[in-house]
Amino acid sequence: MPELAEVDYFRKQWNAGLGRPIRRVHAHANARVFRETSVRLLTQKLAGSTFEASFAHGKNLLFAFSGGHWLGGHLGMTGRLEARPPDARPEKHDHLVLFTDAVALVFADPRMFGRVRFESGPEPPEWWRDSPPEILSNDFTTARVADFLKRRARTPIKTLLLDQAGFPGIGNWMADEICWRLRWHPARLAGEFAERAPELRRALRLLARQALRVIGDDWGDPPDSWLFNHRWKNGGRCPRGGCRAELVRADLRGRTTCRCPRCQPGTAA
Ligand SMILES: [Zn+2]
Repeated sequence: MPELAEVDYFRKQWNAGLGRPIRRVHAHANARVFRETSVRLLTQKLAGSTFEASFAHGKNLLFAFSGGHWLGGHLGMTGRLEARPPDARPEKHDHLVLFTDAVALVFADPRMFGRVRFESGPEPPEWWRDSPPEILSNDFTTARVADFLKRRARTPIKTLLLDQAGFPGIGNWMADEICWRLRWHPARLAGEFAERAPELRRALRLLARQALRVIGDDWGDPPDSWLFNHRWKNGGRCPRGGCRAELVRADLRGRTTCRCPRCQPGTAA
């Protein structure tokens, strides 16, 4: 499932069409990804407009077009954005394709938990303007993190990290990575860490920067020193020097959660 860095990687794929007029729009009108959108309006307005800018915020995407048109996107579980040759034929899961002279901009999503939105207006849409502060923004303060930990004190820390209202862009792998780096058992309650908000904020910002660098630019492989490369392997071991304990996986509030039993002791997940 795409998280902050993967989403930014996909955003950049569409930049191949920046500054180009949209010649033609192909859309699967009945695809579930358009459940909040008028496909007729989207098709009408985007054809002839120019692709001007792309933005990512957490797991959300926003694309600006001339004439004050905004295309919002969320990749859900299996969504992806691609740039293909301008004469590419849309495939089964290509629910939206914007054709320019140079490139075809594709939104594909086999499982359709993703979402496309369309709005027009002089300002970015309200849902975008109302987004919580990004992890790498100056407004993502220690006070804000501490407040979130206190308000949701009874929620397991890993579950809380998945809450997009507090930690936009964090998904399953990043939440596990953070808990592992901090040596926090993922099932321990957020309230236990209220005094440790500075540490959490630092770890979040460091991982966000690292992930954007490693994955966000060219979908590179994270280093073996991260939990990431070991978490899905059967018999995978904790990559921390001097530990090497066998990792354990368990369900936590519906999400598979990986931890090191030695580095992250505490209540059972
Ligand atoms: Zn360990």
